[in-house]
Amino acid sequence: MVFVTNLDAGELALAAVAAAGAFHAANVFYAGSQWFIHADRRIADPGAVALTFDDGPHPSFTPAVAQTLAAFNVPAAFFLIGRYVSEQPALTRDLAAAGHVLANHTWDHHRWGVFGSSRYWHEQLARTNDAIAAAAGSPATFFRPPMGFKTWRQAKALKAMNLRVVAWRLRAFDTLPISSTAIARRIGEQARGGDIITLHDGLEPARRSLSQQQTCRALPDIIRRLRDRGLRFVSLAHGLSVPAVPPASTPPGAKA
Ligand SMILES: [Zn+2]
Repeated sequence: MVFVTNLDAGELALAAVAAAGAFHAANVFYAGSQWFIHADRRIADPGAVALTFDDGPHPSFTPAVAQTLAAFNVPAAFFLIGRYVSEQPALTRDLAAAGHVLANHTWDHHRWGVFGSSRYWHEQLARTNDAIAAAAGSPATFFRPPMGFKTWRQAKALKAMNLRVVAWRLRAFDTLPISSTAIARRIGEQARGGDIITLHDGLEPARRSLSQQQTCRALPDIIRRLRDRGLRFVSLAHGLSVPAVPPASTPPGAKA
């Protein structure tokens, strides 16, 4: 099945538990599913790609990623875990000041959150947007559910907060035990113009003691490989023609 090949071991276990309704499960666990909620997987520009980083901000890996992006003058979007934002407000502010898009990746990235109620999702999204707004001045306009799992219970909160869901066309599997060389080769060879690409600069709470060093090491090579192939890097907001932050007239969390 197509969606199974996109999952790591933990995600697979979760998918197996919920596989009772195959059609329902396929639409929840396949990040590319458009059944419940529309999710962008590509940008309109066929000569460019948009880099996205999930599960930060992390006090070690996020600055390393940001330093490489600055050195190569590459914009990116960071899908942030709200509780990490509240722990690292200065780091969050630095990402915004560097011109990167700050996006919502739930408050605590709970793996069983996919079974949460509408109220659960509202709290996850609102709390995270409030933390991002408190740190960087504006709430997020983009949301990516943990592991890309979408449910109809997210829909009401997404609409209330005017959040647009972004998935990916290509990901590196860089949360698995994989070398920086393998990450760079996979993205370097498989990326196509228009792709939204997902990497990780942080660690979800369930694997917080691990490392994302391999992604930091792979990033310069990824950028060089894609530029050598004639691809440009654009911001997710530019690529989707969406403002990176809501209009100034909307106070942070006003619609929450
Ligand atoms: Zn994540």
